[in-house]
Amino acid sequence: MPQDRQKAVLAVDLGGTKVLVSAVMPGGEIISRRYYLTEAEKGTRAVINRLSSVINKSVARVRSEDTEFQGISIGIAGVLDIGKGLVTSSPNLPGWRNIPIRDSIAARSELPVYLINDASAGALGEHRFGAGIGFNNMLYVTVSTGIGGGIIANGELYTGADGCAGEFGHMTIVPDGPQCHCGNFGCLEALASGWAIAKEAITRINNGESSYIAEVVDGKIENITAEAVAAAARKDDRLACEIVDKAADYLGIGLANLVNIFNPELIIIGGGLSKMGNMLLKPACRIIRKRAFRLPARTVRIVRARLGGNAGIVGAAEYVFMERMRTGGKE
Ligand SMILES: [Zn+2]
Repeated sequence: MPQDRQKAVLAVDLGGTKVLVSAVMPGGEIISRRYYLTEAEKGTRAVINRLSSVINKSVARVRSEDTEFQGISIGIAGVLDIGKGLVTSSPNLPGWRNIPIRDSIAARSELPVYLINDASAGALGEHRFGAGIGFNNMLYVTVSTGIGGGIIANGELYTGADGCAGEFGHMTIVPDGPQCHCGNFGCLEALASGWAIAKEAITRINNGESSYIAEVVDGKIENITAEAVAAAARKDDRLACEIVDKAADYLGIGLANLVNIFNPELIIIGGGLSKMGNMLLKPACRIIRKRAFRLPARTVRIVRARLGGNAGIVGAAEYVFMERMRTGGKE
């Protein structure tokens, strides 16, 4: 095998509705990208069979005389047991309990397979190639339908004892608050995520409050999204502003907790709701200054993610490059 073959990782982002499969080079360069449907409703076995075949086809397509794959990286939202290669639960994949996805895919591939939480992958991606370059102690918080997170401590990805560290969305903020997807009550995700914002707007409009939000969705209340609430808030709609402010306050409380626990130099906010910009981040920063200790609150900078939807893919690939280097190419 010639020494100068370029190395690549096949990075897979397995979501609830679609799968993104990308070939990534060291340095975060994406050389191919394709989307497929997850078809989660067909069941675990069908999803894994399909994923396996998509992976093998992608490897065969991209592999060439000059490109050699180092491994396959599968990023998934949820609680993963990295050591055993299991998805123990995932918000996007209902019914998945202790599914041995790593070994199932590896059995049908000649390449080593690695699992990584999608937000941990995002943290690594932003740290290496995005807004976090040069920051050795940083957090990545992704705020979209759900809220996830990843931790870079002393320049390295911290994943905890089992591999499921960084579930910032599921810290309890209000003990008797609304029920979360995870079953717990009053999680940050149940108070400040896109899902929580939309749900609050739908409930209050259905209870008779009037709002411009209803016009944004042409009266189809059940179609209200966080984006619709943000659009109405930009027009100074009272209810929309109230809902966004409340979510921003809760986000700020969550971030203040993180600032006191981790003393990060930087918190990168990604995910769809980061597009709300100052509407969400300004009040959140005010809460950090109000609630966190003065020293870490003064140190931390809150910035928006730079890589958008690519953070998870390049981070998942980088994770494999690093693991291969650490183990000298052995699994
Ligand atoms: Zn939760």
